[in-house]
Amino acid sequence: IIEDIATPRRTKDIIQRHGFSFKKSLGQNFLIDQNILNKIVDAAGLDSTKGALEIGPGIGALTERLARQAACVTAVEIDQRLIPILTEVLAPHPHVKIHHADVLKLDLAELFKRDFSEVSKVSVVANLPYYVTTPILMKLLEEKLPLENIVVMIQKEVAERMAAAPGSKDYGSLSIAVQYYSAPELVCIVPRTVFIPQPNVESAVIRLSVREKPPVEVDDEQHFFEVVQASFAQRRKTISNNLKSKFFPGEGRERLDGLLLEAGIEPSRRGETLSLQEYATLSNLLLKEGI
Ligand code: SAM
Repeated sequence: IIEDIATPRRTKDIIQRHGFSFKKSLGQNFLIDQNILNKIVDAAGLDSTKGALEIGPGIGALTERLARQAACVTAVEIDQRLIPILTEVLAPHPHVKIHHADVLKLDLAELFKRDFSEVSKVSVVANLPYYVTTPILMKLLEEKLPLENIVVMIQKEVAERMAAAPGSKDYGSLSIAVQYYSAPELVCIVPRTVFIPQPNVESAVIRLSVREKPPVEVDDEQHFFEVVQASFAQRRKTISNNLKSKFFPGEGRERLDGLLLEAGIEPSRRGETLSLQEYATLSNLLLKEGI
């Protein structure tokens, strides 16, 4: 019987046999802990009718587990050196497809049509490379792919920002963007010791349950996100000050503060206290005024 990939012994054996050396620049920290893998895979709620997309399979620690749970698995890996390793270790699982690509440059809608046309639901499950966590997650969410959920290991601080509620110190434009498209939940905090090599930061597993439609009504998404961005431009400034610089330069404060009050927002508040609903109301009102 062959041991699972995600054990210190098998991982070291695979790495040595293929003469593989870790590339820090690609965020290569491989999982060697069965418990953490169980938690990640369980959180996705996969079954034999569902598909899984993995980003950055490494040497296949998580891929192997996904293959046992899902109807089909597609794994996208940027590092050419890992492709022959993956082909070898995943040979017992013919329903796993391996693509050599940078996920940020991939046409995901096309990939979904090609690889997931036979399954009812798809989850993204990954231990993400930390240097590109946010761009990857925003791409997955913004492209409005037919996803049930996204379960990912990311840097703990980033997970906390994504799940933060209005008024907390971690709440910002990232919280709003993620919560507009999904309902985030922290699954668990993960120590550095479950990886080879150990990363410099603490990690967390987060589940984003993808929404069928946004929780608030927004007339123009691009405008909504511009208002949010502008409101956090300088965290210590009031919402009125931040919005004035972006939308009302060289104008008095009366019209802006009047509109804020009309949206039910005290102009002296800070961006970090506004809910998604308040940002939606404000953006829709500014838009109606031609701003
Ligand atoms: N899934 C494996 C595990 O848990 O042991 C490896 C996870 S490791 C944190 C991240 C993986 O993502 C590496 O294999 C790395 O080469 C790959 N990667 C980095 N940037 C990528 C990108 N832009 N597109 C696809 N894969 C990428």
